[in-house]
Amino acid sequence: MSKNFEALDKYFEKGMALQTAITLLEWDNETLAPKLADENTANVMATLSDEYFQTYTCDEVKQLLDKCFEEKEMYSFEQQKILVELDKIYKNLEPIPREEYKEYAKLTAAASKIWAKAKGESDFDEFLPVLDEIISYQKKFASYRGKEGEASYDILLKEFEESFNMEKLDSFFQQIKEEIVPFIKKVVEKNDKIDKSYNQQKYDIEKQKEFAFWIAEYLGFDFDKGVIAESAHPFTTNLHNCDIRITDHYHEDNLESGIFSIIHETGHALYEMGIADNITQTLIGAGTSMAMHESQSRFLENVVGRSKAFWKPIYGKLQEVFKEQLNNVSLQEFIEGINKAKPGIFRTEADELTYPLHILIRYEIEKMLFADEIETKDLPEIWREKYKSYLGIVPENDGEGVLQDVHWSNGDFGYFPSYALGSAIAAQIYYHMKEIMPFETYLEEGNLSPIIEYLREHVHQYGKSKSVEEILQDMMNEGFNSEYYIRYLKEKYQEVYQI
Ligand code: ZN
Repeated sequence: MSKNFEALDKYFEKGMALQTAITLLEWDNETLAPKLADENTANVMATLSDEYFQTYTCDEVKQLLDKCFEEKEMYSFEQQKILVELDKIYKNLEPIPREEYKEYAKLTAAASKIWAKAKGESDFDEFLPVLDEIISYQKKFASYRGKEGEASYDILLKEFEESFNMEKLDSFFQQIKEEIVPFIKKVVEKNDKIDKSYNQQKYDIEKQKEFAFWIAEYLGFDFDKGVIAESAHPFTTNLHNCDIRITDHYHEDNLESGIFSIIHETGHALYEMGIADNITQTLIGAGTSMAMHESQSRFLENVVGRSKAFWKPIYGKLQEVFKEQLNNVSLQEFIEGINKAKPGIFRTEADELTYPLHILIRYEIEKMLFADEIETKDLPEIWREKYKSYLGIVPENDGEGVLQDVHWSNGDFGYFPSYALGSAIAAQIYYHMKEIMPFETYLEEGNLSPIIEYLREHVHQYGKSKSVEEILQDMMNEGFNSEYYIRYLKEKYQEVYQI
């Protein structure tokens, strides 16, 4: 190994250790930490973030990075990619004054609690000052990072998806507006024919949990490398390819929520468990982007998990666990139920068809915010107007409206589009896989491993060493193409609703 690269190694090790510690504290915060812990923990996290910042922005790293780039021809493929990743981190952090970075870390660590309280009390004004502060930090950071003339929102988007700027997203969402908005109207007209009252009966929590663990394993979740805990909103935390932590939530009067959340998070977990051993715990040892991650979770949750072929071999088991509630519900009725589309006010509870509209709304709002076209104090009203115009419904209060998502309190602006892009990538992968393997037969036989193996080989193992576009190109000889997503949604719902 080159001397220069070796000298960088100690920074990598330290940076990785700090990041692991921060991630673990975040996980703890969401799952087990007592209520009063957060202020002190926020201080610890701010100190660790400061150390992290120092590690990758010090002069020696910059000098080594320059030297390594000069001799990069002699490096392995992975080492070259690690350098590129380090360069990104450096360019992201270095322009920001150290004090501001630390203050910002403290602010966002505290903000999610303020948001949670404001949401609970449905009081937007309580959240408004801290939201304003976060947004002004984000605007400032974007101006430090961006090139002359680059729009702030494009700079934020790039942090999550390198190859998607406003221009590309505008055309993606335009297609959704033109094709999906009118299609939803047609679907909703036929909604009376689908009865899913089975979902709101009383389902024992312990039994739900047992089934969730079982289905995670059925999908390939490795309990030697992962754990499942509980949290209000399910999520995935990854430390390295042998320590992936996911959560689920269970509601007595909503069977589907727990089942599809665990399938979704298992998709994220399999991605991280599949990262190759030689790159885990390096800068490229995690999923390549948010959209690619969401493609994996949504592929399992929706493409696989809501298909008839998937439930054919296992619906009997679910019926057995919940005899009373499901004995009279046929497989066909269950499949229609889990695919019912109904405009609702909550993004996280949305069905596959209306989901992209929730994202479209957030995208349009964020775009306006960062173009200084609207003021934060007007967000509740703008939120209601957009829900009315795209989904035909209006939330009753701000807790169920503009305050429903945690993202803004974490400073995650530019993140939402990745969810919709993830669904679109999942659909594209689906049509490709159907062409090259007996996809449905595998599902009907309960033989999921060829499907998961294929994803591991073509997506998971590479981590960040390949970009989204490279992964798609290499796998199917075609870059991102949203036509598949529109086709998928239409074909699926035409079948379920017979239109
Ligand atoms: Zn997800």
